[in-house]
Amino acid sequence: MTPRELVTYGGRSIAYEVFRADRTTLSITVNPDGVVEVVAPLGIALEDIRARIHRRARWIANQQRYFEQFLPRTPPRRFVSGETHLYLGRQYRLRVVVADEESVKLNGGRFVVHVVGGPVPERVEVLLGQWYAAKASERLTERLEECWKRFSGGCASDVPPLRIRRMRSRWGSMSSSGLLTLNVDLIRAPRECLDYVILHELCHLEHADHGAAFRARLEQVLPDWERRKHRLELTLA
Ligand SMILES: [Zn+2]
Repeated sequence: MTPRELVTYGGRSIAYEVFRADRTTLSITVNPDGVVEVVAPLGIALEDIRARIHRRARWIANQQRYFEQFLPRTPPRRFVSGETHLYLGRQYRLRVVVADEESVKLNGGRFVVHVVGGPVPERVEVLLGQWYAAKASERLTERLEECWKRFSGGCASDVPPLRIRRMRSRWGSMSSSGLLTLNVDLIRAPRECLDYVILHELCHLEHADHGAAFRARLEQVLPDWERRKHRLELTLA
């Protein structure tokens, strides 16, 4: 598991992840999604890393603000008829219908949500959330199996265990014990982007950081990963 650390600076919390590498210098990177990554020499104490983050906090905050301006803001969902919701990269218009029984269906290019009593947005949100969670479980499991075959060179067994949950600031993670965690919101993204996230995390089974060896492995298994990553950022920003 990548340790997730927190430093507070001028009222802003800076979360960062520490990767250890056999190197002598420490590097701090702010990704376009705002996630801060630290690659640290093996011997350096977490306290010292924290101090370094503190010293660079102003620069980090500036970087994060710089990237924030490029993020197209999705307006908050209101869960009423007429607005659109994403599934596997496509926009579907929502239609809320009062009915005797609750259900969610994807029908003729629309999300049709049947809700009992009245079109209460909170209830629509719950029903849609359950639908997304079920689809995420189904589709992400299926994509993991496909990606695993690609990653392992055709092996269909020993697929890493998968856990799906809501994650605040990342699409996935790989624990040191080999447990893959994926963000349930990925199910809104195009399938090729799901594969990118899964293969990225599978590469962490072999390389903990994002160094040259990691990139080489990712490039080998998914040569157009950068295009997919970009598409993911555009779709779900
Ligand atoms: Zn990673």
